[in-house]
This record gives sequence, structure tokens and C-alpha cells, in this order.
Amino acid sequence: MSNRRQPLRPQPGDSIRLADYDPDDTGDYRDKDDALEDLERNRARLGELQEVLYAEHKHALLIILQAMDAGGKDGTIRHVMRGVNPQGVQVTPFKVPTTEELDHDFLWRIHQHTPPLGMIGLFNRSHYEDVLVVRVEELVPRKVWEARYDHINAFERLLAGSGVTIVKFFLHISKAEQKKRFEERLSQPSKHWKFARGDLKVREKWDQYMAAYEDAITRCNTPWAPWYIVPADKKWYRNLVISNVLVETLEKLDMGYPEPEPGLETIVIPD
Ligand code: ADP
Repeated sequence: MSNRRQPLRPQPGDSIRLADYDPDDTGDYRDKDDALEDLERNRARLGELQEVLYAEHKHALLIILQAMDAGGKDGTIRHVMRGVNPQGVQVTPFKVPTTEELDHDFLWRIHQHTPPLGMIGLFNRSHYEDVLVVRVEELVPRKVWEARYDHINAFERLLAGSGVTIVKFFLHISKAEQKKRFEERLSQPSKHWKFARGDLKVREKWDQYMAAYEDAITRCNTPWAPWYIVPADKKWYRNLVISNVLVETLEKLDMGYPEPEPGLETIVIPD
């Protein structure tokens, strides 16, 4: 896939301005139908790669999804992971921390859910909330959240050094697209459950959230745990981009099935 107008993966050290990234970009694709074949191919390939990941048992993949409300985290999980054996994927949503979680360091609850070798771990929200909502809503003093970027980089480096390949996606939607999706949720009874009044309070602070995302992406975009800024106004393009990155990332691991036991070719299964 080529993305003409903007880098999908900013270079480590780049200072990110989200205004430079068009959420409505669709790269070289005209429309959904144009992308369908590539998406289907990626889904099938992802299924194969996950099986080798599991069989080889030398690597794990950690996928981190972050977005504003209605940014498409749930839809991404549903669509992109469709071809993957559910036994090979652990999805963990991170909600408002419990009192027990708050009584520990902010990475305590996260570390327990990092994927073991052979598995794909998918975080629906993550430790990045601790420098996003926590920063914007001033849930801890500045000095506390400021220190977290370094902690996150060190934590992700530890994981990377332990066989966990990390990919982090910011699903970038426009404020106008969020409005449209909220309106859909309000107008369709089957989507009412997805609407929370509190989401409107967060929307009011859109610019502060964008600033917090810019800092999180700028400061934690490391060679061992890259951020991808995914144009996400078009759901089909978002799915395509993410599936592309996942396939490319897993292919680079150069995995193989383990050596079979010697002498398998001589085995005859008795009647
Ligand atoms: P989602 O929006 O992910 O589908 P919810 O509607 O239950 O799920 O929202 C989860 C909420 O938990 C979000 O408002 C998010 O900001 C909040 N949250 C997650 N992690 C933290 C954290 N570390 N501190 C405070 N709030 C958090």
C-alpha cells in the first residue's frame, strides 16, 4: 500500500502535529470496493501468520488501539481480526482503573495482560490513557504524568527485548466525523447503548486531547514500539491500513514452523 500524502509511520524524533494528518485520506484507493480485495487478502494472510506465530512460539505481537470516542476501536477489532483463530488472540479493554489498580503503579494492571510468546495481545485503550485522559482531566499532578512518558518507553523496551513486537495505532478521526457517528448512535435504537453523555464532555475538550495525543505520539514513538497515525474517517480504509501494517510486521519476523520430530515420514497410523 502506498500512502501518498502523509506518512503513516512518523519517524522517531519527529514532532507530531495532527493537523498535518488528514483523517479522511484514502491513499491510492478510490472507494470501499476498490479496497475490498486487498483487505480480504490481508485477512487471510493474517490468519496464516497467526498460526505460525502460535506454532513457532518465539514471538508475541502486541497491538495497541487508541482513539477518541467513536474512533472505531471496536470496529477495527471486529473487522481486522476476522480471519484469525480466536484462541490465538487476547483482547483486553482498559476502563477507568479500580481502587486496587489505583493503589499500584500505573503499569501494574497493564503488565498482567501483555501477550505471552505465541499469542497476539490486543489492547482496547492502554497505558496511554495515563498520559491522555489523566492529563487532560488533571487526575494526577503534572509532575506525575510528565514522568510517565519515560516509564512507558522503558516498559515497552522491556517487552520488546522479551520477544514482544509492539505496534501502536492512533485511529485519527475528525471532529466532524465524531459528530456524525454520535448522531448515528442517537438515531438508531440498536446503537443507543453505545452513547454515553460523558462522551460529550470529552468532546468539548477535543483540542486538549489532540495536544495530549501529539505529545504521547511524539515522545513515545520509539524504534522498538512505533506509532502509526491511521486516517480513520473512512472505516474501510482504516481497516485496510491496519491489516497492512499487521501483515508487514508479522512477515518481517521471518517466522517458520518448528522442525518436525525426526522420522515422521515412517509413521503408519494403525487401522
Ligand atoms: P470504550 O470507550 O473504550 O469503548 P468505555 O465507554 O467503558 O469504553 O470507556 C472507558 C473509559 O475508561 C474511558 O472514558 C477512558 O478514558 C477511561 N479510562 C481508561 N483508562 C483510564 C485511566 N488510566 N484513568 C482514567 N480513566 C481511564
